[in-house]
Amino acid sequence: MTLITHWIDGKPVEPSGAATQPVYNPATGEVIAQVGLGTGEDVDRAVASALEAFESWSQVSLSKRTAVLFRFRELLAANADDLALLVSREQGKVVSDAKGEIGRGQEVVEFACGLAQLLKGEYSDQAATGIDVYSIREPLGVVAGITPFNFPVMVPLWMSPVAIATGNSFVLKPSERDPSAALFLADLWKRAGLPDGVFTVVQGDKVAVDALLHHPDIAAVSFVGSTAVARYIHATASAEGKRVQALGGAKNHGVVLADADLDDAANQLTAAAFGAAGERCMALAVAVVEDSVADALVDKLAAKARAITVTAGDQPGADMGPVITAAAKTRIEGLITSAVEQGASLVVDGRGCVVPGYERGFFVGPTVVDRVDPRQDVYTQEVFGPVLDVIRVSGLTEAIELVNANPYGNGAVIFTASGEAARTFHRRVRAGMVGINVPIPVPVAWHSFGGWKDSLFGESHVYGPEGVRFYTRGKVITQRWPQREEPAVAASFHFSGDAQK
Ligand code: NAD
Repeated sequence: MTLITHWIDGKPVEPSGAATQPVYNPATGEVIAQVGLGTGEDVDRAVASALEAFESWSQVSLSKRTAVLFRFRELLAANADDLALLVSREQGKVVSDAKGEIGRGQEVVEFACGLAQLLKGEYSDQAATGIDVYSIREPLGVVAGITPFNFPVMVPLWMSPVAIATGNSFVLKPSERDPSAALFLADLWKRAGLPDGVFTVVQGDKVAVDALLHHPDIAAVSFVGSTAVARYIHATASAEGKRVQALGGAKNHGVVLADADLDDAANQLTAAAFGAAGERCMALAVAVVEDSVADALVDKLAAKARAITVTAGDQPGADMGPVITAAAKTRIEGLITSAVEQGASLVVDGRGCVVPGYERGFFVGPTVVDRVDPRQDVYTQEVFGPVLDVIRVSGLTEAIELVNANPYGNGAVIFTASGEAARTFHRRVRAGMVGINVPIPVPVAWHSFGGWKDSLFGESHVYGPEGVRFYTRGKVITQRWPQREEPAVAASFHFSGDAQK
């Protein structure tokens, strides 16, 4: 059985302890590898290597760093097919969707290729007589990224290219459920010419995470995962004096007004609810539909949900693969059952989904639940599976109130033909990312990604301009070079230094 290792100092390293965890192919239900779980000793070793690498990497010229980023971008593009297969095998998603996540990660690498422009400081010539003032941003040191199972390539690439481009060393603790993609990325970084120790992988669970959170040489922590863990990471790392951005869970609403193009809205909702088996933090989990068009829209959604091809992610024609684990399947099916018991109307039932040839796989079929009440468990919990709730409302005002009352605030979307309604929606809705006739409004790499409320703890969104700020800190230099041919400036004992103004 393959043992999935750490990556420390530019090479695979076996864990110091004996603890391992099985890694499954979710389509077959088989254990395909064991991942070694990192100990405190492993984290110490990884951070020591990263710290040593930081001392030199932070001094490498901008042009040499840029060259590494460009080479990494080329290698990522050239190896996308193999990486997508690897992701599909451990995570379950359809191969074309895995390629999509690699593409979105690649965008962030391309953004980071502009590091010389991004790191240009500000300069005030002759701010006072004979005095110039300039501001620069310097890297923090060793920074950690703790990432979820659902995007094993994209989320590490939301963080690492920006952290590395700005001169930091990056220690990744990927999800223990699909840990191989992290090692694939580590190998690409090495082949791109990144010095050993600048990109490090420590496999593991809470033990490794806690060791990172309490490690004195970790300067900042970027986390993406569920809300309960995000809250814990933010509180723990903040108490240790670290900079933290912790992105949590979500419950994204897609509001459909009566004037929307219903066929278009049904297509977009179907893709955004069931793509990646609903295991996306920007999945549309709730359709909030204006009463007068609700019956027509539900009919369309049901027909489209039934037409989805559910099978292993590497099979031709697959639209949707399995969910990540047997436990996830049981939890999701339990929430569907609870919806029925609590009075919702089950229009398409994905429970008990069996795929021929993959009878032991962790499949849940697309599910549409109509007439959901916001107090029901299927609404109050993040299902993180292929389940679309439909809630009927009287109009835009009620829809906005519903979205705003939800504790999460990642994405919110409106489908409408009215610019006035769309503008009211985007100005009043409390969410970090808003889509107008766009189902999954994940910002392009030169903007930043982040939610509000329980979807993000900390001030900073990831990648884009906010990512650059997160991984750097300001330094302001005030300089004066006394001119020999001019009279000496007299000593001034009051703060404003009037003699030089
Ligand atoms: P998770 O919170 O279980 O795990 C995320 C990471 O935290 C993993 O690396 C895991 O090893 C670690 N971890 C888990 N429990 C821990 C604990 N008790 N203490 C310390 N570390 C712990 O999340 P997941 O199941 O891997 O991913 C799905 C979740 O991530 C969903 O809630 C989804 O909405 C969220 N997510 C959010 C975004 C976003 O941008 N907001 C993006 C992707 C996923």
